[in-house]
Amino acid sequence: MQEVGYGGRIFVISHFEMENELRSACDRYSQEVVSLPPDALIGFFLERHPGKVAFSSSLGAEDQVLTHMLAATGNSVKLFTLDTGRLFQETYELLDSTIQRYQLPIEVYFPHTRQVENMVNEHGINLFYQSIENRKLCCHIRKIEPLKRALEGMEIWISGIRREQSVTRVDTPSIEWDADLGLIKVHPLIDWKDEDVWHYIREHKVPYNTLHDKGYPSIGCLPCTRAILPGEDVRAGRWWWELPDLKECGLHILNK
Ligand code: SF4
Repeated sequence: MQEVGYGGRIFVISHFEMENELRSACDRYSQEVVSLPPDALIGFFLERHPGKVAFSSSLGAEDQVLTHMLAATGNSVKLFTLDTGRLFQETYELLDSTIQRYQLPIEVYFPHTRQVENMVNEHGINLFYQSIENRKLCCHIRKIEPLKRALEGMEIWISGIRREQSVTRVDTPSIEWDADLGLIKVHPLIDWKDEDVWHYIREHKVPYNTLHDKGYPSIGCLPCTRAILPGEDVRAGRWWWELPDLKECGLHILNK
């Protein structure tokens, strides 16, 4: 049960009712504000859902653009990142420089120690190369469980995914209901092309991961990311030993 204010009065409604309300709101937003430009879309949700908007940043190029836009609004947002324990040193350096540049607190969520210990002791330190099941187990423990913890109590989850990034994202709308998490997912940059992202980064001098200049268009954990060759798909360097339609860590396909 939860207390909500409306018309100067306080109502107590159940979690189920809250979720239904939110789902209806998602349907309305999908009609009414879906065509807003990214910064206006972000501003809309920050005003409409104060204190309930979260942004999960992987510190990738798109997420750096969104951090810049969020900082410009001056509104409060829960900004967090997931430290899987297997990231590149360059990513940690970018985390530091981003905090300094924007003076925004970026909360860092880690996986549960005991879960990582059990997984590694049972399957090995580099288990992800052995099978898709092992890779998904690792992503679940190091990413999905901390993500769910970080999003608890939130109503809006802003993410930086774009349609052209992957065959698994070509049909993703900019506003969608996440049934697994019971919240609204918002992808302000869903229609942006690669050149839009980099034009914005250069124009606003947004800090970015130096690995992008070394052939890494998409950056995740170190053992699961390689540089790509000229002409390869931008996500060809992520879990390169798997088929393209299986290459998601699960963060953005929880309800699919
Ligand atoms: S990307 Fe690789 S190292 Fe990172 S959580 Fe997934 S399987 Fe584990």
